[in-house]
Amino acid sequence: MATAEPDWEKGIVAYVASADLTKVSFLLPSNRNRSALVHTLARALGLFLRNFSPTRTIALVPPQSAGFAELNSYHTKEYLDFVLDPNNVEGGDEGTKMELGLEDDCPPFEGMAQYVCLVGGASLTAVKMLCQAGCELAVCWDGGRHHAQKLQASGFCYVADCTLALMALRRLTQPNPTAGLPIKMRTMYLDLDLHFSDGVLHAFHRMSTASPHLLTFSIHHAAPGFFPTSPLAALPSPDSDPFTLSLPLRPGASNRTFARAWQCVELVRAAFDPDYVVLQCGVDGLAGDPCAVFNWALGPDEGSLRWCVGRVVNEWCSKKVLLGRGGYDLPNAARAWAYLTSVALGHPLSLDTPIPDHAHFPTYAPSFSLDVTAGNMQDQNTSEYLLAVDTAFDAVVNKITERMAK
Ligand SMILES: [Zn+2]
Repeated sequence: MATAEPDWEKGIVAYVASADLTKVSFLLPSNRNRSALVHTLARALGLFLRNFSPTRTIALVPPQSAGFAELNSYHTKEYLDFVLDPNNVEGGDEGTKMELGLEDDCPPFEGMAQYVCLVGGASLTAVKMLCQAGCELAVCWDGGRHHAQKLQASGFCYVADCTLALMALRRLTQPNPTAGLPIKMRTMYLDLDLHFSDGVLHAFHRMSTASPHLLTFSIHHAAPGFFPTSPLAALPSPDSDPFTLSLPLRPGASNRTFARAWQCVELVRAAFDPDYVVLQCGVDGLAGDPCAVFNWALGPDEGSLRWCVGRVVNEWCSKKVLLGRGGYDLPNAARAWAYLTSVALGHPLSLDTPIPDHAHFPTYAPSFSLDVTAGNMQDQNTSEYLLAVDTAFDAVVNKITERMAK
């Protein structure tokens, strides 16, 4: 992962990755080899070059492996004792495995202990980079494991790196100009993955006090039987926690629907006014993903993934962490995250950029270009439904505004 020394005169984008992390990610039973595709494509496109962008420069940062105490700030000792013991990959009590969610889509695997420490540590490293002068943005495409729970693995997620990163951000303070108690920072978590961010929203649900400092917001598909089901995956209601927000979308969600939904995102952001944003950029809602639920385009039009991420990166004043997660068409996930890295660097590539000749070039057949375009799926998010979304969010934004004024 070695690259030229970043240009510290420019804004720094920390890119958390390492050969060790890619190697251990390869062992994960899902998304095999995706990590290698992403980072090699980013390199082949020249994103790691010192002068790729006139305004920002990339710093390749290897993740620091998380220790037991860091992981234990959220996960239970029982869960960690089991997943961090290599003897439990082949052995280990079956009943305990079931209890800890280590079955079906989350089987124990060779390298699991190192994987948990490195992925958990990678998102924490991204947070630590934001504390360095000149670094406003950190990227960790190997992170974003939003289904992992305090005492259970779930949905291909063995470590709750998003939750650990949010907990680290919650501990940050800044000096009080009036010499009172240090001022706590406000953090907003926004999740764009196709699936509901149950691990993260459950972790912080109803934890906001009179002076809230953390808001979690998941945009996703929700339907009976669609993983994961949760009462928290529904639109805000008069009784729901205004700092735990969901915006479920119906099948076929396209740029048009995301552009409309984004109005709610902007209202929430303006009312909450976060100092830090953690943006989970799962890309399984893109057209062509095997999940085949949404029909979202990578870019560049209004409402596309690039447009939404670009709003956060370029127009929100907060410091940001961008995380990965879902994306089961592996070359499309690599296209998306390489492209979003160029967006984060303030120098978006053209979407008709040809895929450069590199080790994984044949994977990008038949288009051999960067773009992921929308398909023909019908967008079932009707005007009536989107009006109901607006109404629910108008009400919740009023509640957030009231609470923030206290
Ligand atoms: Zn997903």
